[in-house]
Amino acid sequence: MLRFAPSPTGDMHIGNLRAAIFNYIIAKQTNQPFLIRIEDTDTARNIEGKDKEILSLLNLFGLLWDKLVYQSHNFSHHQKIAQYLIAKDKAFYCYCTKEFLEQKREEAKAQKRAFRYDESWAEIHKDSNPKPVVRLRGAREEIGFVDEIKGEISFNPNEIDSFVILKDDGIPTYNFACAIDDMLYDISFIVRGEDHVSNTPRQILVRKYLDYTKDIGYAHLPIILGESGSKMSKRDNASSVSWLLEQGFLPQAIINYLIAMGNKTPTEIFKLQDAIEWFDIKHIAKSPVKFDIKKLRFINREHLKMLNESELALLLNTKDASVGGLAKLYLQEASTLNEIRDKIDSIFAPKDIYALYEEQDFSEPCEILYKAFVALMAEHSPALREYGALKTELMTRTGLKGKNFFKPLRILLTGTSHGLELNDLYPFLQLFLTDIVRLKS
Ligand code: GLU
Repeated sequence: MLRFAPSPTGDMHIGNLRAAIFNYIIAKQTNQPFLIRIEDTDTARNIEGKDKEILSLLNLFGLLWDKLVYQSHNFSHHQKIAQYLIAKDKAFYCYCTKEFLEQKREEAKAQKRAFRYDESWAEIHKDSNPKPVVRLRGAREEIGFVDEIKGEISFNPNEIDSFVILKDDGIPTYNFACAIDDMLYDISFIVRGEDHVSNTPRQILVRKYLDYTKDIGYAHLPIILGESGSKMSKRDNASSVSWLLEQGFLPQAIINYLIAMGNKTPTEIFKLQDAIEWFDIKHIAKSPVKFDIKKLRFINREHLKMLNESELALLLNTKDASVGGLAKLYLQEASTLNEIRDKIDSIFAPKDIYALYEEQDFSEPCEILYKAFVALMAEHSPALREYGALKTELMTRTGLKGKNFFKPLRILLTGTSHGLELNDLYPFLQLFLTDIVRLKS
């Protein structure tokens, strides 16, 4: 079984989504079930409703799961296993007070050495501290694993000291719950962010003490850098999956981009289904990758181009395929749904003919042209049916020509003074003239 294990403690980051995509693809490639495990062990940091939000995003991206579990439902298993480890002397109660440990940490810092928990401290405060934690005995030998992206990684025993597996309220820590659940659900391979590399030996150690012999494969994904070249943080808008969707990037384009990042792909534009055919986690580059929004825009536009008019119309919240046709034309200029929406909104908005366009005042010819246009509409003039005829008729009636004709015409029809060929737009615009040719009061 493969799994994606989000914590409901914040917005879904593109790094999380990338891990979800890769785990999903590998599950499909190897015909194994895909588990979503909501890791709600950090009860203080859990945010109400985040689990649902994450699930609906996964659903939107088409990363459908075969099984869903909440880690908290397994707490009683975690606690029983902790008791079993205590009985086997692989884990022990630690009564140290927080103040004592803090002081030891300070001492280590002052002496410029890494803090390591010393098992001889375990019972120092046994009489005064009624709420012990449970710690797993630190490693006695080297622990290593082969990472499919980073290669062989190993840790000295002194790097893995006795760590907490149950907090003083009996709630398991992330490392413990994760190690146990990966075992209980028979996980075979784990793709996750490289911030978890140092957790891996701890999780391996838990299972080793339980004599679990199945080797779980690992691939830790390099971090994603922001445009500035430093680690993409929550403050970088583009790191948030919801933000990208709000900007009008399509889920299939985001997936395409996240798979292509730091990877060699047979084609530049592809769908999730295609990637299942050829994806190989070993091809993901070891070095951090920079998030490139320009590239994502390019990919998004290509995916928008693959949609037909009715599909585009639906994404723009209308059933009218002609709006979809208009949207398709705007793909010459726009790369996201929001950019298309802006163009279309500008067409349907009442026109402000008294504003300056390219720093020029076109209000007078606009007024003249508007009157002539409205008259044609009132007459149901056949000239309205075709752009060439419309132009000739309006020029004749108004006497306007050149820039004084074309700029006002464009302003009345699109709300801007530049853009796509009116000749191309008009077949769609003529269907909605009464909604389009109107002035802002
Ligand atoms: N809950 C952890 C996270 O969101 C999961 C890490 C893992 O995949 O083990 O970072």
